Amino acid sequence: MKIIKREKKVFTFSKTHKPVEFVKSGELVVFETSDCFNDILTSEEKLNSKELNDFQNPATGPLFIENARIGDILKIEIIDIKVNDKGVMTVDTRDPILGNKFEKNGYKSIPIEDNYAIFNEKIRLPIRPMIGVVGVAPAEEEITTVFPGEHGGNMDCKEIVKGSILYLHVNVEGGLLAMGDLHAVMGDGETGGCGLEINGEVTVRVNVIKDKIFPTPMVVSGKKIMVIASAKTMEEASKESVSSMHQFLVDRVGMDKYEAAYLLSLVGDLKICQIVNPLMTVRMEMPITIIEKHSAL
Ligand code: CA
Ligand code: CA
Repeated sequence: MKIIKREKKVFTFSKTHKPVEFVKSGELVVFETSDCFNDILTSEEKLNSKELNDFQNPATGPLFIENARIGDILKIEIIDIKVNDKGVMTVDTRDPILGNKFEKNGYKSIPIEDNYAIFNEKIRLPIRPMIGVVGVAPAEEEITTVFPGEHGGNMDCKEIVKGSILYLHVNVEGGLLAMGDLHAVMGDGETGGCGLEINGEVTVRVNVIKDKIFPTPMVVSGKKIMVIASAKTMEEASKESVSSMHQFLVDRVGMDKYEAAYLLSLVGDLKICQIVNPLMTVRMEMPITIIEKHSAL
């Protein structure tokens, strides 16, 4: 199995990056990932170091998928996510939501034992490792790994976990897939400014889907199918994700457009991925049963 070392990292998604590894459609590959602090934040003293500010959110890669052409879709199966035995969290006074409550930045190291994050003597949290940053190169200008968007990127969707499938459009030949920013556990919204930031490794199988068009980023996780959208405001992102799911129901599932709207109201759940990145990210979730009798994906 091919392994991409965490030293092979990028800080933007860009068509100009040289691939660090090549795989065929259907092949397994492991991405070793650094945490969002580039593994620099090993003690409270490092909080104010310059290198911490300069190198945020590394993504391991990019990976070239042979036979992935512009207009195809990548089906990225998350086979496994392993995380380190220690994660880290910060509070940043520049945080747009809670920042003004703090006099100085905060630092907290959290050990992981037997799949639990030991938050303190009284609180042990079961971990559910997720991928914060996962994306492909955009067609045009490079996009920093801090931004989410149609290419994926910093979506911080807590449903991108072991066993889930992420779909992304191929914008440049080979796709140029990269990922990082694992969280051992995170709540919807990422409201305190970060997840339980941790390094680790992700095993994926990437398949190329030809001749199908549907909205992306799309995720299948457990019994849910979801469309992710990112925009300047929550309202815009919400509208976009609902509209995309409606389009999917009509175009791919073959539903009447009125029926699709009724169904969205009844069993569609609009959820917040994150509200702390430069763009807001939401997802529209539907039960997977809506597509079980179709070859919609
Ligand atoms: Ca993130
Ligand atoms: Ca993060």
